[in-house]
Amino acid sequence: MISLKNISKTYTSENIKVEALKNISIEIEEGEICGVIGFSGAGKSTLVRCINLLEDPTSGKVFVDNQELTSLKSKELRNARKNIGMIFQHFNLMKSKTVFKNIAYPLKDSGLSKDQIKTRVYELLELVGLSDKASSYPNHLSGGQKQRVAIARALANNPKVLLCDEATSALDPQTTQSILKLLKDINKKLGLTIVIITHEMNVVKEICDKVAVMDNGYIVEQNDLIHIFTRP
Ligand code: ADP
Ligand code: ADP
Repeated sequence: MISLKNISKTYTSENIKVEALKNISIEIEEGEICGVIGFSGAGKSTLVRCINLLEDPTSGKVFVDNQELTSLKSKELRNARKNIGMIFQHFNLMKSKTVFKNIAYPLKDSGLSKDQIKTRVYELLELVGLSDKASSYPNHLSGGQKQRVAIARALANNPKVLLCDEATSALDPQTTQSILKLLKDINKKLGLTIVIITHEMNVVKEICDKVAVMDNGYIVEQNDLIHIFTRP
C-alpha cells in the first residue's frame, strides 16, 4: 500500500544542512498498522510527512496505493492526498468552527450535496462515538474527544491510509487506550492502513503489526513485532 524507495531528505536553512533521511526504503502492506519509533530528531516525522509529500523528498520515490506520488503535478497530488488522512499530536482543529464544520471541511470540494455532506458527517461522528457533539466547539471538548474529531475529519474522504504523528502523546494513559482501540477498530472495519509515530512502547505493543526503528536518519530495524520483542 505504501512504498518508499531510496528516500533522502536534506533540510537546508542558512547554509546549514541536516540530512534528516538517508536513503530509506520501507514497504507497508494494505491493512497493516506500522509503528515508527526512535529518539527525538531521528527522522520519524520527516519520514511520515514524505508519505503524503507534506515534505518533498530530496531524492527517491513514494508510492501509495500503486500510484507514484513523487511524479504527480500539484493538482493530481491534491487528489491523491485525499487517499491519505493525517492526525497530529495537537489535533490541529479549527477552533472557531463547530465539530460539524471541522469534519465537513475536507468534503467541501468533494462534489457532495449539502444533504450528502450532512449524512457523511453524522456517519463519521457515529464511527468515532461523538454523535452528540456536532454543534460543540473544539475548546469545549476533552483531548480524547478532540482527537476523535480529528480522526473523523481525516477519514472524511474515505482514505486508504491514515498517518498518525504522535497522536496520543498529549493524552493521558486511559484516553490513549481508548484512542488506540478506536484506531484498531477502524483498521479492522475499514481495512485502513495506519502508520503511527510514537515514542511510547506500549502503543507499539498494543496495536502495531510491525515496527520500523529509526536512528539518525536511518531505519535501523524493520520487522514484525514478534521479532522485535523476542530478540535475545
Ligand atoms: P523526529 O520526528 O524523529 O523527532 P524529525 O523528522 O522531526 O525527527 O527531524 C529529523 C531531523 O531533521 C532533526 O535533526 C531536525 O532538527 C531536522 N528538521 C526537521 N524539520 C526541519 C526543518 N523544517 N528544517 C530544518 N531541519 C529540520
Ligand atoms: P457556512 O458558514 O459555510 O455557510 P452553514 O452555517 O450554512 O455554513 O452550514 C453549512 C451546512 O452545514 C448547512 O447545511 C448546515 O445545515 C450544516 N450544519 C452546520 N452545523 C451543523 C450541525 N451541528 N448539525 C447538522 N448540520 C449542521
